[in-house]
Amino acid sequence: MVKIILKDIHNLHKIDVYESNGGYKALKKAVKKMKPDEVIEEVKKSNLRGRGGACFPTGLKWSFMPKGNEKPKYLCCNGDESEPGSFKDREIFEKNPHQFIEGTLIACYAMGVKTAYVYIRGEYYKWIKLLQKAINDAYKEGYIGEKIFGTKFSADIYIHKGAGAYICGEESALMNSIEGKRGYPRVKPPYPAKNGLWGNPTTINNIETISNIPEIINKGGDRFASVGAPKHPGTLLFGVSGHVNKPGVYELETGIPLMTIINDYCGGVLDGKEIKMVIPGGTSMPPLTKEECMTIKMDDASLKKIGSGIGTAGVIVMNEDTDIVKVLIRITKFYYHESCGQCTPCREGCGWMLRLLKRIDEGKGRMEDIDMLVNVANNIEGNTICAFGEAAALPVKWTIKKFRKDFEARIKEVDLKLPPKNIVHALR
Ligand code: SF4
Repeated sequence: MVKIILKDIHNLHKIDVYESNGGYKALKKAVKKMKPDEVIEEVKKSNLRGRGGACFPTGLKWSFMPKGNEKPKYLCCNGDESEPGSFKDREIFEKNPHQFIEGTLIACYAMGVKTAYVYIRGEYYKWIKLLQKAINDAYKEGYIGEKIFGTKFSADIYIHKGAGAYICGEESALMNSIEGKRGYPRVKPPYPAKNGLWGNPTTINNIETISNIPEIINKGGDRFASVGAPKHPGTLLFGVSGHVNKPGVYELETGIPLMTIINDYCGGVLDGKEIKMVIPGGTSMPPLTKEECMTIKMDDASLKKIGSGIGTAGVIVMNEDTDIVKVLIRITKFYYHESCGQCTPCREGCGWMLRLLKRIDEGKGRMEDIDMLVNVANNIEGNTICAFGEAAALPVKWTIKKFRKDFEARIKEVDLKLPPKNIVHALR
């Protein structure tokens, strides 16, 4: 199995070990032998897609940045990583931070950026310290700072600590947060490449995305494109949690069957039980049934065909004993709590869905509540400023679509006590 980021090299987090294993050679190659446009072309050739959930082609995103130096340009590396079920970026900060730093510098060179911010959630205190140490070491060796490798290229990297709001992982809220404002998502357009940080051209990339760049420059875009699933090439850091014997972060090629991850890498389902449900890419991705798990391959195109997505590749495995109603309550409670409150459908809808789900769980539900939940989710989806609305609505919609019998069974367990006219009152 190809490894691009989490290589099996002892002490790779130390700069001398990273250097002695070919570290910072890609940066040297890029700034001394390639023009910025050639770097972007190589990344386009690799077909690298964003690892933060949207899967947008990275080279294409970089090409949106305007040429010339009329205004300062910025790169924001998104390490907010607040999606429940996602815990991969911290592995990079801990085990291979210099590859991320090298990728950041190559991205800066390609887009004419002099300042890069790494946005990390404040709770990642340990990993912030580890990354800061790596950044300090890279400054000392002259990889960051003025006139890198004696060329005209200069760049600085700063860590910006978040204050623990999930919404600050959304790119425009992240920029507001760096600017010192409340983490509210912005209406788009204008897009960040035109009007980003302080109104200047800005690109936002995920930590894992950026960490792939040195490999692409060292070995070529074609080589990268040949690894894994053709439409979504490379490797993914699968963060597997839940009912498996060996949870953890596994770097595996895209397109790998889900059951290979669960059985061959994670030691199978806990206590030898059957699978009930798997969330394939963090809680905002619609879940998979046991039957779907048996054949699905883990790349974005394959998952989209069955109404889900790869997201952040945070795989949450749930066994046959799992209470699906309670799981959906937990997920919806998270989104209800984290909604920034700007849009009425998101702010009110998340609370409405949570109260309906709780009513079902408490034995006061009625059959029409199930369709009402789908109706509320439908009215959130597509009617909000940012994708958070979909992140909250899709799990509800698709969990009900795929596990409707669980909700019906829960409602049938009890007498229906509420008179119909009291529905709205009961939801308050
Ligand atoms: Fe805020 Fe939700 Fe609207 Fe996004 S969708 S801007 S999180 S209220």
